[in-house]
Amino acid sequence: MKVFEKAPAKINLSLDVLYKRPDGYHEVEMIMTMVDLADRIEMQELPRDTIMISSQAGYIPLDEKNLAFQAARLIKDRYGVKQGVYIHLNKNIPVAAGLAGGSSDAAATLRGLNRLWNLNISVPELQRLGAELGSDVPYCITGGTAIARGRGEKLEPIKNSFQSWVILAKPPINVSTAQVYGRLQAGAIKKHPNTKQLVEAIQGKQFDKLCNGLCNVLEEVTLDLYPEVKHIKDCMQKLGAEGVLMSGSGPTVFGLVSKESKVARIYNGLRGFCKDVYVVRMLT
Ligand code: ATP
Repeated sequence: MKVFEKAPAKINLSLDVLYKRPDGYHEVEMIMTMVDLADRIEMQELPRDTIMISSQAGYIPLDEKNLAFQAARLIKDRYGVKQGVYIHLNKNIPVAAGLAGGSSDAAATLRGLNRLWNLNISVPELQRLGAELGSDVPYCITGGTAIARGRGEKLEPIKNSFQSWVILAKPPINVSTAQVYGRLQAGAIKKHPNTKQLVEAIQGKQFDKLCNGLCNVLEEVTLDLYPEVKHIKDCMQKLGAEGVLMSGSGPTVFGLVSKESKVARIYNGLRGFCKDVYVVRMLT
């Protein structure tokens, strides 16, 4: 028996850090949404008690460091599953990009194994399991557009019917999420997102208001460390993207574009100096 799951990439329409908690985590408030750039996860039951993992991508760990492997082990341990699984990850989402590729793979693995092994685990319970694997995993269980609070595990869905083009550009650098959060001084953040106004813009389908309200407090840190991210932001703006923001801790920058007629120009302009550029749609 075999199951397949899609694991879409997420972007942050906002990312706010409210304070650093006594347990060391940051209390966040962020609006996330998904785009139609996705990994494809294939899960095949194995008769023996083992987890095997493979991928066409040569640059991700294929052992217990892989988040899909960790998801499979967690569900097997917690539900006493004796069968094993062979997981193949067809990676399309760039790695360490701020697009939650690993988290989305982990969430898709939890959803898929729930089906493969007929475990009947509820969505809230899948999200609780996901929280043990990473802060973005609970959101990736259900996707859609949502406000995430706490460490990312307290979710409030938002109805979103935007039909926007999204251009993603990832400079060829690796950004350490831990380093970016480590450098952030929560008390010294210059500009915080206005979550309430962004939610109104999304629900009211006000594209300009959404574009003007995009805000990520980690940008200041990453742009300071990596001027190439700022360069991509500036270029996207000059080329005509209506709203431009870095996703997560970076380095991917996304641009929201309402008109199809503008997309090719922006794509070609970015491709002149950046190899990893994707044209996708916002998933509603
Ligand atoms: P985060 O913001 O949580 O760091 P990200 O979207 O920037 O996430 P990912 O693509 O999830 O980045 O990769 C982060 C790290 O996780 C990489 O160093 C990678 O080696 C590791 N990793 C583990 N499992 C996976 C997976 N299934 N796909 C991609 N990367 C994975």
